[in-house]
Amino acid sequence: MKRLILIASLIFIVSCKQETKNPFFQEWETAYEVPPFLDIKNEHYMPAFEQGMKENLEEIEMIVNNPEVPTFANTIEELERSGKLLSRVQRVFSNLASSNTNTELQELQRELSPMLSAHFDKISLNEGLFKRVDAIWQNRENLSLTSEQAKLLNDTRKGFVRSGALLDEDQKERISKINSEISELSTEFGQNLLAETNGFELILEASDLDGLSDDVIAASADAASQRMNSLDSDEEKEKYKDKYVFTPHRSSMYPFLTESTRRDLREKLYNSYVMRGDNDNEKDNKKIAAQIAKLRAERAQIMGYESHAHFVLDNNMLKSPKEVYDLLNKLWEPALKRAKAEVADMQAVADAEGQNFKIAAWDWWHYSEKVRKQKYDLDESAIKPYLSLDNVLQGVFNTTNQLWGLNFTEIFDIDLYHPDARIWEVTDRDGSHLGIFIGDYFTRSNKRGGAWMSSFKGQSNFDGVERPIVVNVCNFPAPVGDNPALLSFDNVVTLFHEFGHAMHGILTNVNYGSMAGTSGPRDFIELPSQLLEHWASEPQVLKSFATHYKTGQPIPDELIKKLLNASKFNQGFINTEYLAASFLDMDWHTISADDDLKDADLFEIESMKKIGLIGEIVPRYRTTYFAHIFSGGYSSGYYSYVHAAVLDSDAFEAFKEVGNVFDQNLASKLRSNIYSMGSTEEAMDLFVKFRGRKPVIEPLLKVRGLDGSE
Ligand SMILES: [Zn+2]
Repeated sequence: MKRLILIASLIFIVSCKQETKNPFFQEWETAYEVPPFLDIKNEHYMPAFEQGMKENLEEIEMIVNNPEVPTFANTIEELERSGKLLSRVQRVFSNLASSNTNTELQELQRELSPMLSAHFDKISLNEGLFKRVDAIWQNRENLSLTSEQAKLLNDTRKGFVRSGALLDEDQKERISKINSEISELSTEFGQNLLAETNGFELILEASDLDGLSDDVIAASADAASQRMNSLDSDEEKEKYKDKYVFTPHRSSMYPFLTESTRRDLREKLYNSYVMRGDNDNEKDNKKIAAQIAKLRAERAQIMGYESHAHFVLDNNMLKSPKEVYDLLNKLWEPALKRAKAEVADMQAVADAEGQNFKIAAWDWWHYSEKVRKQKYDLDESAIKPYLSLDNVLQGVFNTTNQLWGLNFTEIFDIDLYHPDARIWEVTDRDGSHLGIFIGDYFTRSNKRGGAWMSSFKGQSNFDGVERPIVVNVCNFPAPVGDNPALLSFDNVVTLFHEFGHAMHGILTNVNYGSMAGTSGPRDFIELPSQLLEHWASEPQVLKSFATHYKTGQPIPDELIKKLLNASKFNQGFINTEYLAASFLDMDWHTISADDDLKDADLFEIESMKKIGLIGEIVPRYRTTYFAHIFSGGYSSGYYSYVHAAVLDSDAFEAFKEVGNVFDQNLASKLRSNIYSMGSTEEAMDLFVKFRGRKPVIEPLLKVRGLDGSE
């Protein structure tokens, strides 16, 4: 008997160990439902994903097979309720795969990506589901829906239609053929570009390094010895022995173009960059780009649109190519005018040096740097001691406190996924809970580059109040020794930017989760983030948080002045090269399906001639290396960056007009019309409700020094 009990208890213990509970299948009894990070192991993801997808499809089948007449409640709202487990595991997984990854998570990512896209195709191509949604939509006038419900119904139906739900079988087949052709061509485009970028090296002797700083020389010597070490034969190694290597990667090219006094070598390296994919070799991207553009035009035509741009923009804040071209054209003239003035400034420097040449594209970095030193010089190292991470965080917290009465309380007893990550509770003016904010600021090897906002939990008021958990991830340098982490001013702007996205995610207050927070169109969602950046460079705000980490003294006015002046440097160039690429994007995507396959070089020359681009500037991306639009998701959308900038400058101008950057009336209008609304209304309507009119470009021109005041 005793023995039996012993065996039983042994079995109990053993089985207990084998069956470590999968946290995704449990209720999370953590504070604020923060994921139980320490309990989640790599092996928990796949079973949770599989179960999540299975449950999701079962829920969809339940909706489709419901014998009752389709209603908003039994179809649209049930869709909102579906996929909870899947979304829960997906949020944790995608966040950690970006911010704290490991080889197992990377392997899972590769495995999951086709599984998930097949899963979501099953839903978006489900004919029975579309029939129900469409039946409700046809009857929408009789349903007395709220405006949020009407928008949700409309958006849901549109999602199906844009996936091809209204097409006949032949058309559907053609679309899916086009999609797979485009996807293959895009992959090839990207791989060619990578090969072309890696395929050129400028190998220099010690006698070719005129003008280069020690850091740049050291990096290029390092590049040469790395290449040498990767080779086996001594004969091959000889090529790199005691040499210096530069490549058409921007991180290698820009320092060289800026510092080198060897004009012939600048030209060589620069040309290797702008000719990528255009060398008439087996890695040439000209025909691939033209084919992609033509296939997209055909797909749009089948979907019933005039062009690919018409199709894409139908989902954006700007609704048609005409609206985008109008915007680009308005900005073009002042940008080009400023760029021409910058050329004149640089020519004057070259002439004074006694040079006997006209400034060319490959001279821009070298001579603009000389102009910068004369007119806009700024010593970054003098500013950093005023910008400790804790000061800057206090600055951004205070900004949202003064705007909206928010308070941030750091929590120290919740375990996160990494010791660098910190967590705060965000409360509203009246003390009520608004959400949770996680900040993960320092760079580390298992975090991808860049900065972003994401969330571990969404917001909705449907089926009870759910408040969000949002996260900001950045790559700022970690503190050294006993010193606090000190940021550059660029870092500060990035922190405010991501915090703006976080506010969009925290202040959201909508009924249906799929419309919450940052769910709006691409050319609108950068407004809440870029808008907050303006407070970072407002002298009154900057002075309030930028105090020296040793002396406690506020940043001197003189330094603020220099800092703000420096932001106007080279704006003619920056805007002109960007706008030129935006025009090129729009031109490629307004071609007709009936046009012949374009010759990419001729097409680009024609496109740039139309806008009168000057020879000293090449578009930010030429066709053959415009990965944003030919192998990324930005086709007909590259303009979005400047569109959002128009919106944020104009929105901030409202505060400047009343002479108070914390004006309470405006702050409250901003919250109720922009930050809290998610995508429950058309983006342009939201902007107009805040501003009282449509956006204008003049405030942006002023911010960027393109208004002729320079
Ligand atoms: Zn952003």
